[in-house]
Amino acid sequence: MRVPGRRDLRRLSRGLRFRLTASYALFFAVLLIAIAGLFRERLATALENQVDDTLNDEWAAIKGGFLRITWDNDTHKYWADWYYDVDDPDEKTLALDIQKVYMITDQYGHVIQDFTTKEDQIRGFDDLPNTPPAIIQARVREALDAYKPGLPGKAFRVTRRASTGEPFRIRAGIIFAQNRAPGAVRNEPFYVALGVSYSNYAKILHDNSLVYLSVVPSALILGSLLGWFMAGRALNPVREVAQAAQRISGSNLSMRIPSRQAGDELDYLILTFTRMIERLEASFRQMRQFSADVSHELRTPITAIRGQLEVALFTAKTTEQYREAIFNALTDIDRLSQLVRALLLLSQAESGQVVLQKSRLDLRSVVEDLAEQYQIPAEAAGVHLTADAAPECVVEADRVQIERMITNLLSNAIKFTPEGGQVRIAVHPVNGDAELVVEDSGRGIPTEHLPHIFDRFYRVPGSGTAPAPEQGLGLGLSFVARIVKAHKGSIDVDSVPGRGTRFIIHLPAAGAASDTLELIRQSA
Ligand code: ADP
Repeated sequence: MRVPGRRDLRRLSRGLRFRLTASYALFFAVLLIAIAGLFRERLATALENQVDDTLNDEWAAIKGGFLRITWDNDTHKYWADWYYDVDDPDEKTLALDIQKVYMITDQYGHVIQDFTTKEDQIRGFDDLPNTPPAIIQARVREALDAYKPGLPGKAFRVTRRASTGEPFRIRAGIIFAQNRAPGAVRNEPFYVALGVSYSNYAKILHDNSLVYLSVVPSALILGSLLGWFMAGRALNPVREVAQAAQRISGSNLSMRIPSRQAGDELDYLILTFTRMIERLEASFRQMRQFSADVSHELRTPITAIRGQLEVALFTAKTTEQYREAIFNALTDIDRLSQLVRALLLLSQAESGQVVLQKSRLDLRSVVEDLAEQYQIPAEAAGVHLTADAAPECVVEADRVQIERMITNLLSNAIKFTPEGGQVRIAVHPVNGDAELVVEDSGRGIPTEHLPHIFDRFYRVPGSGTAPAPEQGLGLGLSFVARIVKAHKGSIDVDSVPGRGTRFIIHLPAAGAASDTLELIRQSA
């Protein structure tokens, strides 16, 4: 796998920065467009209401008497006339405004008068007179149906575009003639439509939209720049942390990424990194210590063997002397092969897993056999070894591994118990499962070391500065813990310094659910 370089990291963070900015800009754009749309909608409604107000005023004026429709007996026709005070500037302006665009038809849609027929015609919505009579008739009917004396009456409002493209707002309704034609049963209704050009308002809307069209993109660009800047600021510490992390290598694992003391997610990440580096550092330290120990352990017996053989070769004269030299050399060779076995097991474990060979195993016979085997070393150490096994204690387990486990515990117990001490191994069924106890009256383990004794390569430091001669490689208990774990069991340790140690192992009768023994992981 390729380790990302500094340039890749910069590119990555730029990618993240870009994505942050893009989502910010997108959100900003949607927000701005939504606000602009809403505002335009409200403005349009307000403007339309304003036009309608003007039209309502005009309508009130014509109903109030500006427009009178009367039957003329001479011509036998209805006439529409305008009445207002020409000298009153307000009235005159209003009347002229009304007359810019209007149309009066009878109830059948025949035009009686419209602005195009007026002499001083002002150009307006000349499509108005072309309203189809059918529509007019329908509207008149509707207005008549809804008619109630004294009420404003039904108003029709539409917005239409003239052929010139100019928008107009139309308000139409009915007005009754002032008098009746001879024989008529009631005053005849007339259809009156008033129009007001909407173009000023449309222009306001249009200008408003133009403002938006120019403001929104600039606001967006500004917002995006701001977003880009802020995302850059937010990501800067990430880049710094990455650079600091890159400086840490196998040779300077004591270096740490400085915490920013901000208590944020980044500090949490830094803390996680720091913990990881601490674990790595501990592993590296253990490994280095292990290599040093191994080479030391290998060198000592080799030097001793060499010395003994040289002495024998050059100075030994009697068979007794030769025998002694060979005996001493053999003892050292024993230690060497023990060491090599441990290393072999370790390398085997490093390269993979040890497959468990499960079978029904009578723990009593295993315990008794091993106790017997260990009588000789126990006696040599002046330690009294006793075994106490219940008759029936069968579990499903791997014989070799269980023997290795007991061997490690027994040899530790004998090793760390001074002359005259006691070592006891016992196995009993407990609730159908097996409980194995190895206890001694030896030197015990100080409480502060108890949590670590199952770690690989961990050895309780001796009282002096040099490692005590009986110290092994610190592998034994780590193997024990892993074997127990592989058999789905549990291990507990009680120890009182100076008084002794007790290991209690609980093995389920049908344990060994796992097929393999994990020897690789650091903690059991
Ligand atoms: P080693 O190969 O050094 O014995 P272990 O993993 O078996 O390594 O044990 C780890 C350490 O725990 C030993 O260095 C020893 O100090 C301590 N220890 C283990 N068993 C006992 C015991 N029965 N009594 C006192 N100390 C013990």
